Amino acid sequence: MPEEIVLPLLAADPATFTGTAFIRLLAGAESECRIKLYYVRFERNARTWWHAHEGVQILTISQGCCRYQRESEPVREAVAGESVRFEPGVRHWHGAAEEQTAEHIAVNLEVRETRWMEEVSDTDYRAILGKTP
Ligand code: MN
Repeated sequence: MPEEIVLPLLAADPATFTGTAFIRLLAGAESECRIKLYYVRFERNARTWWHAHEGVQILTISQGCCRYQRESEPVREAVAGESVRFEPGVRHWHGAAEEQTAEHIAVNLEVRETRWMEEVSDTDYRAILGKTP
């Protein structure tokens, strides 16, 4: 029987995340796997910096309320059970809603690079929420 693989829960990189967040790679360490699957937990007010994925990214919210934004779109929120999809190359960020925690599973298709950009300002993070389309 093969050995069980449990990868560690790691503190998110402060060079690409604001606030306190934790990440565990659930699947994708093996070279034959065509996706990367991450569990991510955001403590209150934590969020990623602006970034874009070369492939599609799908987030499934597993706990709490996730705040996110695509460039040139309003800030939006998704709650546990909902999913959010980011198309390849679209600048965006995601994290906990204000004064709340959030956990999501991130599915990164085709295992391509993530391009990291600048920090999300408090003004952007706290912007008035848009209506969900
Ligand atoms: Mn993303």
